[in-house]
Amino acid sequence: MSGPRTRFGVIGDPVEHSLSPRMHAAGFAALGVEATYVTLRVPAAEGASVEDAMRELAATGGGNVTLPHKGRAALALDEMTDPVRETGACNCFWQTDAGRLAGDNTDVAGIAGALEGMLEGRAPGEVLILGAGGAAAAAAVAADRLGASAVRIANRTPVRAARLAARLGRNGREARPEPWPAAGTCDVVINATSLGLSSSDPLPASFDRVTARVALDLVYARTPVEGDAGDDPDVGTAWTRAATARGIAAADGLDVLVRQGAACYPRWFGVEAPVEAL
Ligand code: NAP
Repeated sequence: MSGPRTRFGVIGDPVEHSLSPRMHAAGFAALGVEATYVTLRVPAAEGASVEDAMRELAATGGGNVTLPHKGRAALALDEMTDPVRETGACNCFWQTDAGRLAGDNTDVAGIAGALEGMLEGRAPGEVLILGAGGAAAAAAVAADRLGASAVRIANRTPVRAARLAARLGRNGREARPEPWPAAGTCDVVINATSLGLSSSDPLPASFDRVTARVALDLVYARTPVEGDAGDDPDVGTAWTRAATARGIAAADGLDVLVRQGAACYPRWFGVEAPVEAL
């Protein structure tokens, strides 16, 4: 990392829902860093300008990339970590001392950490991933790292599931594409689609069709329920509530958000993150 640390931000579309600005404002304050963290909406159709936005932010600190630009961000990098190489997706970037654009995929560490916490020392067993975008790729690498006995990928557009499985295969990790909508028995099911970002979305998978012990929803947008003021951390998403109603241990994406955010601090500042503040 090099240069000033005054302006960070997250690039995506949509970005309005992102909790990253609030989370990192708290983190920067705890570290005593005087910097801002902004949201930069780059419409999906204008993906070509993602690189410009990354280089601009990297020169003043660094930042994050969210959907749908993580793949595009990986292609823009001058230097990348193994998790970026394996997933083809970048969610955290900064500028090196030599002025080069460097990136990591801290979603892998974030998802692995959150899953480990939910599994309480047990092996993950069979992991079914819903989705085939950047978050799904990170979930697949995280599951494999934790020693999953099988990784299955179900996606609305089947060819993307097949492509992700092939990419993982080239990097020595096995994954199997499956039909959509997802069905069958697994140990862990992970929602890595964007379904749930809007409260009118259908569930990403029905628990009539999918049986699991643990369900992790990477979405953290709260789906309001009657009587909730919108700030109850136990409310979760519509999908985690459907899982809990079936006796499945479930969590939304808040823990993943904090963990992937914390993993950016060594990259941006060369120090561990103030996790409690995040
Ligand atoms: P992405 O690359 O744009 O991929 C989106 C995925 O959602 C694709 O698999 C897409 O399927 C699927 N999808 C979208 N609309 C759908 C619909 N109507 N029906 C079925 N599938 C649909 O996005 P991403 O970067 O992987 O992110 C996915 C989600 O994970 C987002 O909600 C993001 O906020 C969340 N996430 C959270 C954290 C965290 O810290 N908690 C970290 C990473 C990601 P197609 O291929 O068919 O289009």
